Amino acid sequence: MKHVLIVGAGFAGAVLARELAEAGWPIRVIDARDHIGGNCHTPRDPDTGVMVHAFGPHIFHTSNTSVWDYLQRFGTWSPFVNRVKASTGRGIFSLPINLHTINQFFGKTLSPDEARDFLATLAATDIQEPANFEEQALKFLGCELYEAFFRDYSIKQWGCDPKELPPEVLKRLPVRFTYNDSYYDCRYQAMPVEGYTEVIQNILAHPSVEVRLNTAWDPEMRQEAEHVFFSGALDQFYGLCEGRLGYRTVFWESENHEGDVQGTAVINHTRLDVPWTRVLEHKHFAPWETHTRTRVSREYSKETGEGDIPYYPKRLEADQTILRRYMERAGHERGVSFIGRLGTYRYLDMHQVVAESLAFSKTWLHAKAEGRSLPVFPAALS
Ligand code: UDP
Repeated sequence: MKHVLIVGAGFAGAVLARELAEAGWPIRVIDARDHIGGNCHTPRDPDTGVMVHAFGPHIFHTSNTSVWDYLQRFGTWSPFVNRVKASTGRGIFSLPINLHTINQFFGKTLSPDEARDFLATLAATDIQEPANFEEQALKFLGCELYEAFFRDYSIKQWGCDPKELPPEVLKRLPVRFTYNDSYYDCRYQAMPVEGYTEVIQNILAHPSVEVRLNTAWDPEMRQEAEHVFFSGALDQFYGLCEGRLGYRTVFWESENHEGDVQGTAVINHTRLDVPWTRVLEHKHFAPWETHTRTRVSREYSKETGEGDIPYYPKRLEADQTILRRYMERAGHERGVSFIGRLGTYRYLDMHQVVAESLAFSKTWLHAKAEGRSLPVFPAALS
């Protein structure tokens, strides 16, 4: 029996590997990096002992009970509510915009209904169907909140005019007329007590799964494999032949200090004259641990260049055109499927990736068992 090859040892690849291994397939997982976990990797900093979100903050959140139950098998999870602060030109506020933010920002003491009415007086009334990020913000928040919290941050984060961004990017964040200051609206919000790398290690710990690190994808590998699941970047798979899909990459400047630097895990810096987008203080992602020292990372965003790790798919109009060409090519593939944030060029959260790999493994196994043609993309894209 030939092995199934899975390219990439992040959540997408690991969950798929586990499911197919449990169904009886021999699996080989390769990753070009020297660690598993993809961008969820959480090594410990040897100097401070702090668990570090090495590729940016990852806070697990989902309302999908089967995804939540599934992950309980692979680690101990501690409830964790992400309470982000935004440092703006007018001071530090709670984010996403909630009743506390509105009252503090405007110096008021409004009730939920009063705040709703008040915001309606600020909102742009001439925008019916928001066509972009800026219109979405102006329609629901008005100019002052948009400028203080979203305009400059998004210029830094995405490197373009917010008018070029789709409204969906802003829709990721709720606006609340209560004092609920959780960043997410999900039923389950948690952190793995020993980190994401350990969870992914446990997912991969199956006798039929072989993991090879420091191993880059090579198209020759197709010959030996029954099937390839590719979670790297779709455009890279095709050697960029249809052009480069736009991604933002992020990088960090990190320092260790005594004590506590900012008193919380994440502070977003929403002004354009502050060059970084946010500052992470990693030990606050694990409040059950005690550390006398601390590690902080200033996060910057830039366009992805040669050799940079792609993080955020931009999905601007030009990208959509290129994407359609790659998807058409991929549609003709036999023996290759594309998964995950990079393989499908979508802005996905961890829980969506896990749900999709669980569903996709079932679809693939059924198709294989019945001798039908194998799916190239997860259902949402097919
Ligand atoms: N955003 C912003 N100001 C903030 C936080 C977010 O303008 O302080 C915008 C930004 O464009 C970002 C989007 O809202 O890309 C969605 O935010 P989210 O926190 O979901 O981004 P992520 O956690 O994926 O970086």
